Amino acid sequence: MARITKTGGKLSVPDVPTIPFITGDGVGAEITPVCREVADAAVSAAYGQEKRIDWMEVDAGRASFDRNGTFLPDSTLQAFKDFLVGIKGPLMTPVGQGMRSLNVTLRQELDLYVCQRPVRYFEGVDSPVRHPEKVDMCVFRENTEDIYAGIEWPAGSPEALRFGRFLKEDMAVSKVRFPETSAYGVKPVSREGSERLIRSAIEYALATGRKTVTLVHKGNIMKFTEGGFREWGYALARKEFGSQMESGELEINDCICDAFLQNALLHPERYDVIATLNLNGDYISDMLAAQVGGIGISPGANINYESGHAIFEATHGIAPDIAGKDIANPGSLILSAVMMLEYIGWNEAASLVTSAMERALRQGIATPDLAGSGKGVGTREFGKVLCGFIKN
Ligand code: NAD
Repeated sequence: MARITKTGGKLSVPDVPTIPFITGDGVGAEITPVCREVADAAVSAAYGQEKRIDWMEVDAGRASFDRNGTFLPDSTLQAFKDFLVGIKGPLMTPVGQGMRSLNVTLRQELDLYVCQRPVRYFEGVDSPVRHPEKVDMCVFRENTEDIYAGIEWPAGSPEALRFGRFLKEDMAVSKVRFPETSAYGVKPVSREGSERLIRSAIEYALATGRKTVTLVHKGNIMKFTEGGFREWGYALARKEFGSQMESGELEINDCICDAFLQNALLHPERYDVIATLNLNGDYISDMLAAQVGGIGISPGANINYESGHAIFEATHGIAPDIAGKDIANPGSLILSAVMMLEYIGWNEAASLVTSAMERALRQGIATPDLAGSGKGVGTREFGKVLCGFIKN
């Protein structure tokens, strides 16, 4: 087993890296094998015998619970820690099991502070907007802070009442309209957390030849959290990327989130790389995904650019309504594998998959979610078509 490592800021990738993967619940059982098959076909076509992925299955989710009595075994976390780069199918969120979400746990344990979501249009895909081809953005959503940190107390609980008293008595806050029945949530946003996210977005922009990084925030209302994100972002850009800004290689601007949601619909061509906080990023990435045709082809990754840890994942859920029917779109996971191949520097293989996907969708070959109900090819068949296009 050969490990991908990161030293001196550089990723070192052996020719046959071991990559842990989680099959996932629901449609995971159908899309994950197809994704591996397509990735293998591309690596083989690009590098012949020279390179190969050594896939290592690790347990998580419902199947893991049935086998091991736990939704997320320690050995799975350890594998992602040890092998640095991994990929996962969707996981069900256990209800009432004392765990917020398996996905959130993985992100927190590995401190995967960037949620990266590239959004582009594939010709042939039905879209609700007139010019989906103008959408070509990459969203960098902060993954560890903000209102998502999970610091909240239900209305009427002793903690909420105590917190209310603390606000009133110690902090002289008199603005809580109904203190007895208020629930509270805390929104931590730090300079370090904002800086590392924005730094990653800028470095990505420079590495991929994208010129503009837009800081999307709601600093007009939340002056110190969202406003802090904006201020720290500009200061970091000036300090660490001043020469690129002066030469015109890089442009930093900002936009208030509600205006961004409107502008991204009206003038999507104005935006390249988006850096934003957790909740804004959640809304933004789903809206942009819808603009280019939806959930079945939206890839994602959770990355810590400092340690190198990265987990690539389908952004949709386990789709229980279509599981087991061989109709799920494997596109989201396959495009996540493309991101993974790019991340480890296997760009030739990544391009082969992207071209195959473009060719299939352009020719109207798609799963029913994109082809229209009653039409389209099955999950496995779609994978076979991609493998065929990769080979010729
Ligand atoms: P979902 O994404 O599973 O389904 C929403 C809709 O999209 C459904 O109609 C579904 O059929 C469709 N859909 C999803 N993936 C598709 C695909 N590949 N091809 C075609 N159609 C697809 O969202 P949900 O119903 O809100 O969540 C179901 C479960 O998934 C929950 O347990 C939730 O916690 C979990 N979930 C997991 C992740 C993850 O692992 N990253 C993300 C979201 C939801």
